[in-house]
Amino acid sequence: MSERLHEKLEILADAAKYDVSCSSSGSKRKNHNKGLGEATGSGICHTYTEDGRCVSLLKILLTNHCIFDCAYCVTRKSNDIKRAAFTVQEVVDLTMNFYRRNYIEGLFLSSGIFKNANYTMERLVSVAKKLRTENKFNGYIHLKTIPGASDELMHEAGLWADRLSVNIEIPTESGLKLLAPDKNIKDMIEPMTYLKKEIIRTKEESKIFKSAPLFAPAGQSTQMIIGASGESDKDIMHTANKFYKGFNLKRVYYSGYVPISNDNRLPGLGSAVPVLRENRLYQTDWLMRFYGFHVQELLNDQFPNLDPEIDPKLSWALRNMAFFPVDVNTADLQLILRVPGIGVQSAQKIVGARRFNKLGWDHLKKIGIALNRAKYFITCNSPITDRKDYTEAKIRQFILNESRSKFLTNGGQQYNLFG
Ligand code: SF4
Repeated sequence: MSERLHEKLEILADAAKYDVSCSSSGSKRKNHNKGLGEATGSGICHTYTEDGRCVSLLKILLTNHCIFDCAYCVTRKSNDIKRAAFTVQEVVDLTMNFYRRNYIEGLFLSSGIFKNANYTMERLVSVAKKLRTENKFNGYIHLKTIPGASDELMHEAGLWADRLSVNIEIPTESGLKLLAPDKNIKDMIEPMTYLKKEIIRTKEESKIFKSAPLFAPAGQSTQMIIGASGESDKDIMHTANKFYKGFNLKRVYYSGYVPISNDNRLPGLGSAVPVLRENRLYQTDWLMRFYGFHVQELLNDQFPNLDPEIDPKLSWALRNMAFFPVDVNTADLQLILRVPGIGVQSAQKIVGARRFNKLGWDHLKKIGIALNRAKYFITCNSPITDRKDYTEAKIRQFILNESRSKFLTNGGQQYNLFG
């Protein structure tokens, strides 16, 4: 690799690191043309797939030149940084070289805006098209689309990429206006609407015609920057809910704002968003998508922010003790899913197992539920030994004490997701 190309790679990979929306879940692009690679399954760049596979994507910007001046972005035009731009062929060659050396399984490509949206989007599309057609590349491709690009370009992008994303960036319209005055919410909504329609249409077509071309088979996603515009957790998750529902998004990613400037519209330097806030938002996202919670139950005017001390499911349960205790031998799956300490798989196992046996504590332990939490919220076929008529505050304290002592015994390594 030439020195200049190496330098570009350093600059443009570094600039891309602020984007967290690069999961590759749900794509099934087969190696049908004796080409290279096969995007099978799910994954997140530089991390692990749901099935434990480590997936690595080449994650770069095409350029960090940008005509816009979004206050929260290192690439903004007023920022005094080293700039670089790849040619289309350079990105294609890099991807193929890295792929052949087994460094990566796919490409995540985003970009600052050169000249205008269409000019930039055309180049992003060309990279994906060249990889697929000239290089027979069947690995995973995630393209970040450029707000304001034409429907024709969005369509082409969908033909070559596995996943497309349009970043909302800031969760509230007023925040977007303040921090990204060049941007317009309409320029994000329109491509998302178009992608949603095309994804549905091509899925329907493929049921009738086996040879119908794939269109963004891993769907569309978006990212929100958290903590740059003083928004509440309620603002963030209500926006996420609106986008999940309105645009059939596969994922919404929440990325804590990294303070990068002294701009007085932004939180000061040194006030990074705690990782815990991101984690709580992801937990809420899971509760909405897999546990049947409505966003309004978790975050509303009375509770606009998530409790940093306990996870949102436990927090909801403690505020709604009238639902408990739940009898695991008779309750609906939907209600069992609401018990702290019981995950989706365990809830399904409970419903399966109780057909053959009345379940007691031993059965539940074998199924793998976290009894140290669940015991305060359930009854089963064993006598109640530990749960008395505790108040919410007492239960909260017991669970917190137990988590803390577990944390200490595990040398501070444990992070509890939905206990
Ligand atoms: S348009 Fe994108 S790359 Fe350009 S400044 Fe705004 S967020 Fe950064």
